[in-house]
This record gives sequence, C-alpha cells and structure tokens, in this order.
Amino acid sequence: MNKELLEAGADTQTNSKERSYQRYLEIGGIINETDYNSALSRLKEAETRGEMPDNSSMAQAQTIADVADIDLNGQNGQIARLYSILRNDIRPEKQKYHHSDMSDHRIFREALRMLEDVDALDKLKSTYHTNRRLGTYCPLCGQIEISEDCP
Ligand SMILES: [Zn+2]
Repeated sequence: MNKELLEAGADTQTNSKERSYQRYLEIGGIINETDYNSALSRLKEAETRGEMPDNSSMAQAQTIADVADIDLNGQNGQIARLYSILRNDIRPEKQKYHHSDMSDHRIFREALRMLEDVDALDKLKSTYHTNRRLGTYCPLCGQIEISEDCP
C-alpha cells in the first residue's frame, strides 16, 4: 500500500461522516467493493433526481423495519432507497455469488451496513437474532441454535 492510500485511510477514520468500504467491512459487510460503490453512487443519483423506491421494495423494507422498531425514514430516507436499489439488482451472468441471491432481511442488513447505521444494525440483530423465539431460525444468519454471533 502506498503512502497516499494510507493517508486516505487515515482521513476516513477521522471524518466519521465520510463512508468507506473499509468501515463497511469492519461492521461485517459482505458485498464486493465494485457493487458497494455502484450502489452508493446510484443512491446519490436517485436522491438528486428525487426518485422514489418502488412499492414492493418499500413494503418489504417497511415490514422488516417495523418489527425491529427501526425508523425507515431515518438517514433522510436513504435506508429505503438503498434497500430498493440492492433488492432490484440482477446478478451478472458470469458472477457466481451476488447479493441478488440474498433474502430480503440480509439485503436490508447490507443496506444498513453501507449506511454505517450502527444503531439500526443493533436493533436488527437483537430483534431477529438475539431475542427471537426459541426453536425459530434467524432470518439474517439462518441459525436455529442460540449463539452469540450473527454473521
Ligand atoms: Zn442471526
């Protein structure tokens, strides 16, 4: 890694408002960097053009958010918009693993990670993983057994 990159890394750490792929990975993000950048730049475009998320994505996101008591209009509506962008992505033909194969709950979690909304991520995990009923599975990680971690 060259000096410029190191300095850029240091910058993103001191400036917490600047989102970074590094930070996204630190809080568990699993989408590749190209798709991450593409989704965030399309989010910006959608905001500039005032595009609204489609109704079916909106309804899915609302249901997931309501159960976990997350404010879907938080982050200036970015959660719903980013969810809709990720949910509507289509897997490129030659790519084996792609976020379009993820469940709605997992897509929702990736949107929160990209927005670095740690509070909402905590709510999501405690609702769907930590405090779920015994014998049910976690829609985020698919585990039935109760364990600390929700990868
Ligand atoms: Zn889990």
